[in-house]
Amino acid sequence: MQLTRTQQPRIRSAYTRQNPPPDEPPEGVAELTGWQLAAAQWRRHLPDDLLGVECVACQIAWPCDAWDIANDILNSSRDCADQHDEPVDATREEVPETLAPRPRSRYAAETEMA
Ligand SMILES: [Zn+2]
Repeated sequence: MQLTRTQQPRIRSAYTRQNPPPDEPPEGVAELTGWQLAAAQWRRHLPDDLLGVECVACQIAWPCDAWDIANDILNSSRDCADQHDEPVDATREEVPETLAPRPRSRYAAETEMA
């Protein structure tokens, strides 16, 4: 499902110039090469230092298409990774507290008091 640019309320990026996407993808991202290429492209096509309105690589209005595409790839990679995590979290939450293993602290507390 791809939103057109007019449907996007504003640019969505998990990264900033101060905090650019790393070469190592976040946990859960399976597309290592795709991530690395996109991350490198993302870092190359940043807005200029002076006014922040032009891409330093393309010298056109930022965000340029190259950055936009790279950002999309990074976003969807992260979204996929998040979705992979969800079932695990859901299962964890469904376990009632009564089924959770008894904390050893009770025994520890008793021995400490003795
Ligand atoms: Zn560019």
